Amino acid sequence: IAIFLFFDYFCIPVFTNRDMTTKYIFVTGGVASSLGKGIIAASLAKLLQARGLRVTIQKFVPYINIDPGTLNPYEHGECYVTEDGAETDLDLGHYERFLGIHTSKANNVTTGKIYHTVITREREGAYLGKTVQIVPHITDEIKRRMLLLGKTENYDVIITEVGGTVGDMESQPFVEAMRQLQWELPEEDFLSIHLTLIPYLKAAKELKTKPTQHSVQELQALGVHPDIIVCRTEKELSPELRHKIALFCNVKPGHVIQSVDAWSIYQVPLNMEAEKLDQMVVDKLEIPNLPLPDLAALKAFLTKLKNPELTVDIALVGKYVELQDAYKSILESFIHAGVTGKCEVRVHSVHAERVCKENVAELLGGMNGILVAPGFGERGLEGKICAVQFARENGIPFLGICLGMQMAVVEFARNVLGYEDAASTEVNPSTAHPVIDLMESQKSTTIKGGTMRLGAYRCRLVPGTLAYRIYGQDEIRERHRHRYEFNNAYLEEMQAAGLAVSGTNPDIGLVEIVELPSHPFFIATQFHPEYKSTPENPHPLFVGFIGAAISNGK
Ligand code: GLN
Repeated sequence: IAIFLFFDYFCIPVFTNRDMTTKYIFVTGGVASSLGKGIIAASLAKLLQARGLRVTIQKFVPYINIDPGTLNPYEHGECYVTEDGAETDLDLGHYERFLGIHTSKANNVTTGKIYHTVITREREGAYLGKTVQIVPHITDEIKRRMLLLGKTENYDVIITEVGGTVGDMESQPFVEAMRQLQWELPEEDFLSIHLTLIPYLKAAKELKTKPTQHSVQELQALGVHPDIIVCRTEKELSPELRHKIALFCNVKPGHVIQSVDAWSIYQVPLNMEAEKLDQMVVDKLEIPNLPLPDLAALKAFLTKLKNPELTVDIALVGKYVELQDAYKSILESFIHAGVTGKCEVRVHSVHAERVCKENVAELLGGMNGILVAPGFGERGLEGKICAVQFARENGIPFLGICLGMQMAVVEFARNVLGYEDAASTEVNPSTAHPVIDLMESQKSTTIKGGTMRLGAYRCRLVPGTLAYRIYGQDEIRERHRHRYEFNNAYLEEMQAAGLAVSGTNPDIGLVEIVELPSHPFFIATQFHPEYKSTPENPHPLFVGFIGAAISNGK
């Protein structure tokens, strides 16, 4: 029976098989980090979803931080935020973009969360008389969380990506929990995929399998037997080479598949389908009678992505620009919106610290649009303010996100209202003009982790504004991650001088969107639209921004 599940924007046909138990798929990685386990996991999930199954993905990460909210983006890339306000690994962004579903707090587990739970329980006396140990207490808690979404949300398939590389000391308890589940779950409910790298040695003109053999041996020494080996490779794997890997790694012939470097991450599900990954999985998990994957929407997206009719140049002004992963969701949102606008979006990373009055025209003058990125702290702030001023004064389409919106307000206060020392109290607590100030609810907060304003909140739009035209609805829900906000003490004065407030939170009156009606396209949001953009549902703000950038063709 096909039923329809309604998510925020999505309508996905789902074939529920009431007799089916939840299936658990684990994805580990070996040989090197950054092989793209998240993309492989998301691609498999996409294929299974496209065959009518209810699928979700979760990531277990080895570090001891409770979540990545307190990490510098240089350490770990972007911190992704879910609808329910979890600060998570950026791979959850890939999961949401590939699947068009929402993930939640339960989809991202760290070693820190596991230990925190066990140690809290120990203090409560739950283990009185016992020595608390990695096995069984830590691994029991890992297993409980690995199975949790299957129990509470009734998914058909849960894919668990185990972060880190097999052999790392840090990820061993996760692998040990997998080993136990391998025997505790019915055989047809458990499947393990190992992703490795097959390096190509140019001098020898050869692909090398030895690192893969060692990595699989390492996994097997920990007691986990991979069902499928996915090999990342620059070059096609010959049937002989696949056979050799299968033989040495003790997997079924045919269960060694390749993942050749793809031109777009969104091509990977199709590559995995061509390798029959989904069919192997469905066979091993004994899920009968599934239709073939319906990937029509993804294919249409890829065709458009491959054949842009024009290009636009967008400046991304931020302070973590050396690391592409730091702005992952923003970069992906540009790809999605570019497809809608039939254009290739060329994103030029501009280091905020390098922007100043003297060079701003040279750095940003040739751009069709300017985005000022989110961020924390003082570094690069004056450059961001300069970029905003340049966009405002020269009619260049502008999108400000979170800190980008806050700097748009500061710029307006300084250069239009004439308050030279206007600032956010995040960096200047003693300014006479705190146009961006700490939220009331934050004033008593001393704990740093997980205490920002996080997750989705309602925002009411003002009819007749740019925001209203872009969204085409009265009320939206968008995700947040901030402590500071527009100071409503300046609201009337700013509005009188030409800054329009086009979106506010209906419950607490917080300003969510500002814009300049006198400008061709100038809009800035306290929330993060980039977290909700997907290939099949590009975010309207990015689509609008790219549309304006196209009109501003230079
Ligand atoms: N640092 C700002 C705040 O905490 C903006 C945060 C952001 O850009 N995500 O309010």
